[in-house]
Amino acid sequence: MTLKQALEQAREILASNDIEDASLESELLLRHTLKIDRVRLYLDLGRELIPKQEEAFWHLVARRRKGEPTAYITGHREFYGLDFHVAPGVLIPRPESELLVEKALDIAHHQPVTTVAEIGTGCGAIAISLARHLPEARIYATDISAPALKIARRNCRKHGVADNIRLLAGDMLDPLPEPVDLIIANLPYVKASELPHTGPVSFEPIVALDGGPAGLEKIRRLCRQASGKLAPRGCLLLEVGQGQAAAVTACLRGLFPSAAIAVTPDLSGIERVVSLCLTPDYLDARLAYGIRS
Ligand code: GLN
Repeated sequence: MTLKQALEQAREILASNDIEDASLESELLLRHTLKIDRVRLYLDLGRELIPKQEEAFWHLVARRRKGEPTAYITGHREFYGLDFHVAPGVLIPRPESELLVEKALDIAHHQPVTTVAEIGTGCGAIAISLARHLPEARIYATDISAPALKIARRNCRKHGVADNIRLLAGDMLDPLPEPVDLIIANLPYVKASELPHTGPVSFEPIVALDGGPAGLEKIRRLCRQASGKLAPRGCLLLEVGQGQAAAVTACLRGLFPSAAIAVTPDLSGIERVVSLCLTPDYLDARLAYGIRS
């Protein structure tokens, strides 16, 4: 069987099991089996697989068919143009979370951001993406999960930012040693009753997904703690789930009556990031800040 035939068959198997992006996923699994990049795969499409490779490939396809996410099978996921190591102890970075990074870099364009804290860093994707673009910043990345911090450490080394990021174990803002210019977080926000029992998300760590009965338990707690850990002109960026932006905005408005608060939709039009900046004149300067027109 050629690489092309293997890809086609795998795509059919995955698609008939209701797996989205079956072509891309088949390609990632085949590349992982053969340890080759995309260009090599396309150059070699007519080549025959040796039986051992074929066996290994179908084994991976079977795992994917049973629901295991491709990122856990391959141990890799791309985020903000970088390749991250991922494993079952961490949430797989999602494309929509790149919006958090974009917003953070946008803020850093308009005011000094010398200290940053990412809360619940998981594999470290957000903190590391920021470290690569803000090489002068001192970045703290916290997580309550020791296995997650281990994976984040490995990714910090992989991307050469181990000296820029201090990884801290602990709950929410507790481990932060100082107030920071920017707090950024993709906290667990799935309603407990909506946690999936099947499909790829069911393979991911509950601690990274479970936001309590209304999904907002962790986010509200962080909002309440934030005033003690934000620098005078500090900003807070939170990823939220579909339909949660209004409640989070209201919560922040109550806690920070004079701050500038904005909501930004993701590429699917879902209100995804709630941002708060403590300086009122920041809002005057950029009235439409955070709102895509
Ligand atoms: N976006 C994730 C999902 O539902 C949830 C991540 C989170 O809780 N922060 O797949």
